[in-house]
Amino acid sequence: MPAKVTLHNTLTGQKEVFTPKVEGQANLYCCGPTVYDFAHIGNFRSFLMADLLTRVLRYAGYEVTKVQNITDVGHLTNDDFADADGEDKIAKKAKAEGIDAFAVAEKFTQYFLEDEKELRISEPDHRPKATDFIQEQMDIAQKLIEKGFAYAANGSVYFRAAKFTDYGKLSGNKLDDLQAGARVEVNDEKESPLDFALWKQAAPEHLMQWESPWGMGFPGWHIECSAMSQGLLPHTDIHTGGEDNIFPHHECEIAQNECSCDYTIPYWLHAKHLLVDGKKMSKSKGNFFTIRDLLTKGYKGTEIRYALLAAHYRTALNFTEDSLVQARSSIERIQEARRLMVNGEWLTVDSDTDWIADLSQKYQAALCDDMNVSDALAVVFEIVSEGMKKRDAGSLSDEEAGEIVNFLETDFNDIFDVLDLELETIPIEVETLLQQRSEARKNKDWAASDVLRDQIRELGWEVLDEAGGQSVKKV
Ligand SMILES: [Zn+2]
Repeated sequence: MPAKVTLHNTLTGQKEVFTPKVEGQANLYCCGPTVYDFAHIGNFRSFLMADLLTRVLRYAGYEVTKVQNITDVGHLTNDDFADADGEDKIAKKAKAEGIDAFAVAEKFTQYFLEDEKELRISEPDHRPKATDFIQEQMDIAQKLIEKGFAYAANGSVYFRAAKFTDYGKLSGNKLDDLQAGARVEVNDEKESPLDFALWKQAAPEHLMQWESPWGMGFPGWHIECSAMSQGLLPHTDIHTGGEDNIFPHHECEIAQNECSCDYTIPYWLHAKHLLVDGKKMSKSKGNFFTIRDLLTKGYKGTEIRYALLAAHYRTALNFTEDSLVQARSSIERIQEARRLMVNGEWLTVDSDTDWIADLSQKYQAALCDDMNVSDALAVVFEIVSEGMKKRDAGSLSDEEAGEIVNFLETDFNDIFDVLDLELETIPIEVETLLQQRSEARKNKDWAASDVLRDQIRELGWEVLDEAGGQSVKKV
């Protein structure tokens, strides 16, 4: 049976014990990118949260199926209620670049996949594209019309928000308040300004358009995620996204899911937004970063990953370049401890490793507690510090070193995935010289020891003397 996992559910506003529909299995639907531009680090915070969730659930013993979509049509520039003023983000970019909208989507999908790889985000089990689910989206719209929750007007189809009494339950918005605050729109084909588009009529020049029962058109953004989750998962246990997805995107998804076929998703997780240097990220303020921008500045994907993951997903993260520098030193510290433990010579006597087992348990408990990464990382550094302290005192045993290495390579790295696990293998010549040097030092023949150190150095390896023995590092 998997370990107990608690998660903060936006729907109830509380931390709850995760109980999936089928014991031991977790079905995840994660809102993916809209591929009209490079995704920025704020977008990636939410994608990394989904990656972390997937890994933590697997670590806890769940069999996880993760779906993360690609929105390649239908995300309007003004998506509050997908009204007539909004322009499809991808179509807009295509116009600006003078290329085909499908080519824009394809290009930025590829860039996105490259960025994901840099950040070591694990592959989802399914990566559907909205354009591959056009029929399913029309089917849901049709079903909603038949049930009286939607209506067609001038070739578009709208959802009657007020008809769904639970509308607002995710975001906490009240229908009355929304109604009072709604703008009076030029678009009068809607019965109410709160109604949102399931399908939009396309102008003849619009490149992405499909034949539908209501004429040529394209789907609205919200219905895509309903179609892809319902189409790929018999039920969804957890839905994730950034907090800006809560309203209207996820609120509308809930309305569509529950009114079309009682497809109820019980857990909703949202990553808080991100600030850069204490301010909202914006191109005009010069604090807008894509993954590529940071790679060009010389930071590694693993450092960006660490910096974005190290703060709990529900705290507003203030991202600074300094946090990348800190990430680098944290990773190096762990990496170095692992390298020393692997390559060092330690006491051959067995010793008590209970302290490592206890801390591992503490680490797992922290991750299972609503993905408390700060507590989990504190435990990682406790293990590293204690191991290094023992090493410096010459009291680290082979067994302890082995357990620490095992913890860092699996427990830690299966979740955080920032270590380079390939260590350079020490060549035989170096090994032989190291053995000779070890002998020389036992005999207190310091002159021979120094000669051997130089010979090893000529082969490109530096000897480090430890209290417990010696280790080597590639120069
Ligand atoms: Zn979505």
